[in-house]
Amino acid sequence: MYTAFLINQPSSDPGVYLELKYRRDAFLFDLGDMQHLPPRQIRKIRYIFVSHTHMDHFIGFDHLLRICLGRDQHISLFGPPGFLANVEGKLGAYTWNLVRNYTNDFALTVTEVHETCSVTRAYRCRSGFVPENEETRATGPGTLVEGEAYVVRAVFLDHSIPCLAFCFEEKTRLNVKKNVLEEMGLPTGAWLTRLKEQILNRDPEETPVRIFWKNEAGETQETFAPLGLLRDRAVKMTSGQKVCYITDAVWSEQNAARMIELARGAELLFVEAPFLHEDEATAARKHHLTARQAGRLAALANVKRLCLFHFSPKYKGREDLLQNEAQSAFSSRKPAGPPAGDSDQ
Ligand SMILES: [Zn+2]
Repeated sequence: MYTAFLINQPSSDPGVYLELKYRRDAFLFDLGDMQHLPPRQIRKIRYIFVSHTHMDHFIGFDHLLRICLGRDQHISLFGPPGFLANVEGKLGAYTWNLVRNYTNDFALTVTEVHETCSVTRAYRCRSGFVPENEETRATGPGTLVEGEAYVVRAVFLDHSIPCLAFCFEEKTRLNVKKNVLEEMGLPTGAWLTRLKEQILNRDPEETPVRIFWKNEAGETQETFAPLGLLRDRAVKMTSGQKVCYITDAVWSEQNAARMIELARGAELLFVEAPFLHEDEATAARKHHLTARQAGRLAALANVKRLCLFHFSPKYKGREDLLQNEAQSAFSSRKPAGPPAGDSDQ
């Protein structure tokens, strides 16, 4: 369960704030102007995913720093090639001689993602943000963060420079129906952890599940029941939802295939729609999508809901044209097929 929203109007700087209900973790996708995001929400941010460091996607870094400085907050940031230098450029723009006296230690862990590897450095306020603990891993995009309840993945898109697109996905939740177990004459206990693993692994239905408990004399007792029976009767499965964030990408065969794969089946797709399709040549020259391409992408990926942003200022006062064009392409819901040849519809 989550809430996700644009941090600015669709014509202003990009950024999506996503907060998990029942948990403290919040996520930010892109770091555009953050002035309108209340500080109490900024202080909940645990992870920030930056698509690329064109100014409108990264200018919020200073505001983030200002709000979080002097607090015990630890934020992990991810960005494309060059990201470490961009972050160090920002941190290097200020004088930090007084921070050693702070009682709290604001810290950043920054990962620069490449096609085939990633490089991480840490920066601590009380050390004056001097880079520390560099680590290189032989993994590129793909899974960036995996928590108990969610996973965040990324792919590279072509925006004349590498630009990351992100997908946040909740994991399937399994809840044991204790009343049903009782009716079945089965105890609760440690065996349920293994049962959940077996269900998530999609082990065969007939797999015997070992159910064990201690009797009053402290002796271990056991019985077995088929996985399929236990799953169907005593476990409620709730599939997790998926939210996708795609911005700054030219419409090409490779980009379209990657975007569709990333967004497939998402509950909510945040996607840029800077230009009307009549300005397709401008969009292509600037390596952006048109509203029609954004809507078509959402239809091909079979997403449930669409939220558009990154409108070009040239459509000021005419934003409804962008919304209408994208929604009309989205609602046409053409069956999935090769995205190339989307010249017109
Ligand atoms: Zn850009």
